[in-house]
Amino acid sequence: MLGTVARKLRILGFDCAYSATIDDEELILAAIKENRIIITKDHQLGSNAKKHDIITIELATHTEKEQIIEIAKGMGWKKFEFNVKNAKCSLCNGNLSSVEKDQIVDKVPPRIAQNIQKFWICDDCGHVYWEGTHIRNLEKLIAEINGQL
Ligand SMILES: [Zn+2]
Repeated sequence: MLGTVARKLRILGFDCAYSATIDDEELILAAIKENRIIITKDHQLGSNAKKHDIITIELATHTEKEQIIEIAKGMGWKKFEFNVKNAKCSLCNGNLSSVEKDQIVDKVPPRIAQNIQKFWICDDCGHVYWEGTHIRNLEKLIAEINGQL
């Protein structure tokens, strides 16, 4: 499952469509229409996509970290950097906008509302984000990954 990789790449600012249920033909058509690259562990899909001249990265590794490294190498990316201004919604790939605390105070746990000052909201699904533990963990992960690029 590449869903967790897609979620991380979205937070890092990459526009990632993800579906666990879409069939190969539909996925290839969507990639052509939306001008996307295909990242897959499925060799059959990878070969089909290449026949359609779609840039395709076929993953051979299994952990999230190894897979992100494979993607970065495949794309020629030299470094990941977290910048909240570029971050996309990890759930739906929507864009995030800065939001005033009083507008979202009922959508976050009281402890967070009390201790955190800056919040962002997804323009599409309304999910609320703040810089917390998950971002620190992500920064740790990308530091490790950057060390291997
Ligand atoms: Zn969203």
